[in-house]
Amino acid sequence: MKWEAALAEIEAGLASFQDVGRLVERCVAIAQAEGARSRLRIHARLAQIFDEHADFESARGHARLAIESADAASDASDAALVASSLQRRDVFEIDLEELRDNIAIAARMAATWPSELDDYLADARAQLSRSLPMDAEREANERALVELLERRGDDSLEELTSSRVRLCRLLLATARRDEAIAIAERIVARDRPPTFALVEAYAVLWEAYRARGDDDASAVRERGAALARAVDSVPESNTDDVIGFLLAPRPFPEQLVSPERVVEVSFGMVADPATRDERGRPTEDGLLSEKIFGPLAEFTCACGELSSFASYGQQCPRCRVEARTSRLRQWRFGSIRLSRPVMHPRCVTAVAALLDMSPGELRDVTSFDEPVLGGPLDAEQSIRERLRDGGARSFGGARGRADHAILEVLPVPPPDAERSPLRRPEVIAAYEAVLAANRSDPAALQGAVDALFTAL
Ligand SMILES: [Zn+2]
Repeated sequence: MKWEAALAEIEAGLASFQDVGRLVERCVAIAQAEGARSRLRIHARLAQIFDEHADFESARGHARLAIESADAASDASDAALVASSLQRRDVFEIDLEELRDNIAIAARMAATWPSELDDYLADARAQLSRSLPMDAEREANERALVELLERRGDDSLEELTSSRVRLCRLLLATARRDEAIAIAERIVARDRPPTFALVEAYAVLWEAYRARGDDDASAVRERGAALARAVDSVPESNTDDVIGFLLAPRPFPEQLVSPERVVEVSFGMVADPATRDERGRPTEDGLLSEKIFGPLAEFTCACGELSSFASYGQQCPRCRVEARTSRLRQWRFGSIRLSRPVMHPRCVTAVAALLDMSPGELRDVTSFDEPVLGGPLDAEQSIRERLRDGGARSFGGARGRADHAILEVLPVPPPDAERSPLRRPEVIAAYEAVLAANRSDPAALQGAVDALFTAL
């Protein structure tokens, strides 16, 4: 079909960074001449194409045109595409007015094609709730979300529990305690595996019982706190590769991990070279941060604003610490973004061999201090490329990539893990030296990282 060829041309143009304005104009002209159903498909596809190329303004424009056509057509196939184009833009740029608008449009479309749009509507409503103050609009939105999730008929849905809990908190905040209790009691009455949302339900129920002077309050707290400890315990997700990367004597290249992997397991960036403040408490962005790794005291944030089981799962608006149990500190990683790339000290010999250099020569090139071969960035770039090529050739079947020996992010292990290196003061001191160099003396960074790996 003519318009399918036009779409393909637009895609090819976008992929090679050409100006596609003229192609789009032609495609839209074709769309105009077609019936409503084809128009819907053309604009929905254009919205998706622009979405994929991060041109959200154009994506949104075509999503709107698709919706206009959707009213005239009665084809469900592209409705979800349109909705996702609208939503993707919201994710990057939350605008309450637009979000409300999109929900209204999607709700109207969902009346015709419910199942295609349920996911979009649920996401959009959850996002709206997070952005709204505790008011009547938020309550109406939350009720609509609960209803939508209930319609799926799966009562064990974690999202459904979360949404019900948010509704309970809202009801408590607006002094409708009995209604909140009724919903929370329903959640905890069902036998189900412990989850974050279930513990939150116990927290809300405890708060409501306590306010009512109910005898069952302490039993609810006890049960809820036990579940909280279970939920916050070391999860099954495996982070051995990241620990291996820190502790392996010669990680090259199988045990090297990518910077993306380090960021993936990290709960926040450690940046402050000072680990403790003058009162001896962990600094906000330091190595033992409660904001990143979790609280030191059960259900208590760093500033003391949140201090009881009732706040379980809430993030303190002042110190940003989550009121959960200290068990999080046994498995949460942090990370340090290095202000310049450094060579993994335990890989120098292997990397040098791969590049046909002596370790000394490699050190000279990668110290990145002096302009070498047209500047430090060029040196790093060329080594990276040669490692990628050579690494791929020499270690074709092996896991890991040789160019990950050039470090951009460092993992910070969970401070309370059983065998955490952070339990040793010399490791804390070595990490502090890395953070200090990272902040104010980049030329000393390589030396500091070398010393850190010696201390580990
Ligand atoms: Zn706080």
